Amino acid sequence: MLKKRGILLVLSGPSGAGKGTVTNEVRKSSDTIKYSISATSRKPRIIERDGREYFFMSRETFEEKIEAGKFLEYALVYDNYYGTPRDYVEQILEEGYDCILEIDPQGAMQIKEKMQDAIFIFIAPPSMEELCNRLTSRGTEKPEEIAKRLGNAEKEFKNLPNYDYVIINDKIEKAKDEVLAIMTAEKLKTSRNYETMNLLNKGALS
Ligand code: 5GP
Repeated sequence: MLKKRGILLVLSGPSGAGKGTVTNEVRKSSDTIKYSISATSRKPRIIERDGREYFFMSRETFEEKIEAGKFLEYALVYDNYYGTPRDYVEQILEEGYDCILEIDPQGAMQIKEKMQDAIFIFIAPPSMEELCNRLTSRGTEKPEEIAKRLGNAEKEFKNLPNYDYVIINDKIEKAKDEVLAIMTAEKLKTSRNYETMNLLNKGALS
């Protein structure tokens, strides 16, 4: 069997929609999907460890890495830098694993310009009220920060046509199953299977 290049799956959407939770559930349910650990200049939270949730670094180090072209994409998200390490993602895909990125919408659109065969999933909250509840109850942002995130969410919804799929995250189990279903369908696309079909058909498709 041919070792095919893996698929890059980009999960994005407004802050508070639950993309991190969906990503974690997908990771637990699949051993062919690997997660790319991002770099950030934000300070670690108490339960976070360097190299597990993020590669934590100073703003200066992050900016040096930008200069050196080390990121596939990066963005300033609410005053901190976040970026996807280019080499690591490339290695995962080359090894034939699928790779999941959980990134903000600015970063997702940068990837869209560079990697045409990536899959883009917009994780949406069930309603703006629920988004507000989630942002409030996680207790990590001040009221003015929450208002800013809600304002941004409205802008991000306008960008929905740039995504391939939308998942409404009302039940985490359902959202996870939908991501896995998308992956299954994508893998069966004819455009992703020309090489294998050519082997079966002695080059009939070339
Ligand atoms: P948090 O600080 O709560 O972990 O993440 C804040 C935001 O940064 C989330 O919306 C998350 O999706 C986004 N984020 C995490 N890693 C990356 C990355 O590598 N690139 C971009 N563009 N955004 C990221």
